[in-house]
Amino acid sequence: MTLNITCIPGDGIGPEIVAQAKKVLDKVAEVYGHEMKYTDILMGGASIDACGEPLTDEAIATAKAADAVLMGSIGGNTSTSPWYKLPPEKRPEAGLLKIRKALNLFANLRPAVLYPELRGACPLKEEISAKGFDMLIMRELTGGLYFGERKTIEENGMKKAIDTLTYTEAEIRRIAIKGFEIAMKRRKKVTSVDKANVLDSSRLWRAVVNEVAKDYPEVEVEHMLVDNCAMQLVKDPSQFDVILTENMFGDILSDEASMVTGSIGMLSSASLNDSKFGLYEPSHGSAPDIAGMDIANPIATILSAAMMLRYSFDLDKEADAIEKAVDTVLKDGYRTGDIYSEGCEKVGCTKMGELITERIK
Ligand code: NAD
Repeated sequence: MTLNITCIPGDGIGPEIVAQAKKVLDKVAEVYGHEMKYTDILMGGASIDACGEPLTDEAIATAKAADAVLMGSIGGNTSTSPWYKLPPEKRPEAGLLKIRKALNLFANLRPAVLYPELRGACPLKEEISAKGFDMLIMRELTGGLYFGERKTIEENGMKKAIDTLTYTEAEIRRIAIKGFEIAMKRRKKVTSVDKANVLDSSRLWRAVVNEVAKDYPEVEVEHMLVDNCAMQLVKDPSQFDVILTENMFGDILSDEASMVTGSIGMLSSASLNDSKFGLYEPSHGSAPDIAGMDIANPIATILSAAMMLRYSFDLDKEADAIEKAVDTVLKDGYRTGDIYSEGCEKVGCTKMGELITERIK
């Protein structure tokens, strides 16, 4: 198979970690008989410096022509970088919003996995972390409160701010379908999270999820109120497989789920549209404080590349091979600085990329 991939190295540690992910993908191509075709585009600060804007129309056209996009991360030090003296629409992060919109990326997937070897980094009590967890938060990304009409008015001399939360049946259905499809590739359980005891939008959410569930009889579905879900994530995260939820709830819950893993350098993510197309990137930022030092952890980006193989190309075996190689490297005791613990061998970004590449079988 030929895989046409647009790469966005981006800023800070972005180029270093994307280079490692490409190395791993090239090994996968060699072992499994595929061809990787990469085209790099600029985004964020790198694009501001070269083209005067965070993402050009030509770069978007290149991304659209690919099968998937693999990204490092963008942005600089928000206090000192001159990029943050520009108006908001010209700053690095504007490129990210523009590409999500241009590619119609409405489904955001963030796995939160506790590796047995990294259990020590988990901030939860040992009796909870001992059970481990492997969940995926599926967040609706283009609707709800963040995209509804908003205004601030004055009534009787008092300022009043209004934000609106709307969802159509179609918006809920398409994300629910994604959630169930992805559950079918995992442990076949969907926890749909809402606030149906208060919000109309949540009652519609629940009704549509129940309709979609009928097409996936193998998938166990449960509904959970968002406040309860926030508690359950720290009480017993092992109960979750796919958490399916709307934009704002997902924003908050996915950060909570990431934090309970305790390892920011390990967290991958994907944003998908209606087709198989997706943008894959680590959940962390561009870490300008360690850029160029060859000490960044490339695993989040490498695992994002595995998600890309699984969700955009249906290459499950190849994705498994990458995840297995990451597991093995951890079991063999290699760590980058951010996940280092005593008794392990500390390695840099390039070396970690090589060690994972060597273990692709
Ligand atoms: P950050 O995630 O870049 O860094 C937070 C801390 O985690 C830093 O100490 C950093 O060194 C460390 N860290 C992050 N990734 C690491 C890795 N792979 N290996 C080892 N250590 C790692 O968050 P921040 O400092 O708040 O943001 C820096 C820049 O990144 C900002 O400009 C921000 O806007 C941008 N950002 C971009 C994205 C994106 O591209 N999607 C996401 C979040 C933040």
